[in-house]
Amino acid sequence: MLSFEAARARIVEIVSARAAAPASETLNLVSNSPAAFGRVIAKNIIADRNYPPFDRSVRDGYALRSADAAEPGARLRLIGESRAGVGFSGTVETGQCVRIFTGAPLPRGANTVAMQEYARGEGDSVFFEEAARPGQHLVLAGAEARIGEVMIPRGSRMSYAELAMAAEVGCARLEVYRRPRVAILATGDELVPVSTTPGPYQIRDSNNVSLPTQVALAGGSPTVIGIAPDEITKLRAQIEQGLQFDLLILSGGVSAGSYDFVEQVLRELGTEVVFDAVAVRPGRPTVFGWCRGKPVFGLPGNPVSTMVTFELFVVPALDLLSGSSPRPLPLFKARLAHPVNEKGGVAHFLPARVTWPVPPAGAEPVAQVEALFWEGSGDIGAVVRANCFLLVHASRLSLQAGEWADILPRRASF
Ligand code: AMP
Ligand code: MG
Repeated sequence: MLSFEAARARIVEIVSARAAAPASETLNLVSNSPAAFGRVIAKNIIADRNYPPFDRSVRDGYALRSADAAEPGARLRLIGESRAGVGFSGTVETGQCVRIFTGAPLPRGANTVAMQEYARGEGDSVFFEEAARPGQHLVLAGAEARIGEVMIPRGSRMSYAELAMAAEVGCARLEVYRRPRVAILATGDELVPVSTTPGPYQIRDSNNVSLPTQVALAGGSPTVIGIAPDEITKLRAQIEQGLQFDLLILSGGVSAGSYDFVEQVLRELGTEVVFDAVAVRPGRPTVFGWCRGKPVFGLPGNPVSTMVTFELFVVPALDLLSGSSPRPLPLFKARLAHPVNEKGGVAHFLPARVTWPVPPAGAEPVAQVEALFWEGSGDIGAVVRANCFLLVHASRLSLQAGEWADILPRRASF
């Protein structure tokens, strides 16, 4: 059986080789709801001039020639001021200084800034308590970026820092890839929509709520097809509907029960099934295939299995369909609060909480992780209480308290 790492690698290999390049469109950078947030850019973002465009003061104080204040105790004549957006039109000559404010350009002739905290105005002159090194409290023109430099490479996903950079360099319109359109289809005779009162043995459909949220968080555009019954003809019709989209995610119906028809129907529709089992819990019966030019995922229906397998397997495919490279799994290390003993020769992703307890005096703060009690992969409440998943590798299923362990943060939980 494939490890989860090998399964991810297969997905990346197949989707990179086969998926068509996404189409692009142009969006306004500035709008009330930042339209380009989460989009992947289709063109490099380039510096339109040097940054900063002028030698910029990063303190309130005085601009002067460092040779005039090589020793503490200099007294210089004040000849004007330079403020942000305006500057000073004259030149600072020997024996002179100019009042300067944060964000203002360094006047001609000056080569340094002395902080106002160490200076005292005395009539039309200023007394400097400290010596001034050349270039202090300045960011020189072009130090952050040179004109023509690639500031954000094509294929990057735009979040607040990237959008701020686009604003800084004047990209009022951004060429971005279209979001992949993702069809979501729940399966199971026991499922009813949230708006319906369930019968005694019925279950409200939650995967058609969690999956669109996860798709949106990962940068895709979700469409819920609905709930398919465990019945071949209707299931086939709804899967065919889902295949109109760029990617199809099914949940449920992939185990080995008598009413689990998803893999069978996918094969009847011509799906090349790449794998239908992964050595991971939750998530063992995950199906990944290629059907009519589209990636198709059959995720196990237990809500926590669906959540975990989406993060492990669907996200890299979505990244590639978005025009970006697949994000690595963001694993971090934390110290185990308790021993862990898992079984079954597969990797486990356990709902867990990471905390940063206040360390004893003099000790380094370290992340600490605690696996939460849970009733297994139907237990949504465990994930609600969790802020991460503790990864117990198949190669080492027993860990002691105090050992370092891998954790996968729960998306958008920090
Ligand atoms: P399955 O993967 O179809 O064998 O389903 C496994 C378990 O997950 C069963 O207890 C189902 O009732 C439950 N389940 C399947 N799909 C959903 C869903 N969309 N929402 C909530 N629970 C589900
Ligand atoms: Mg089912």
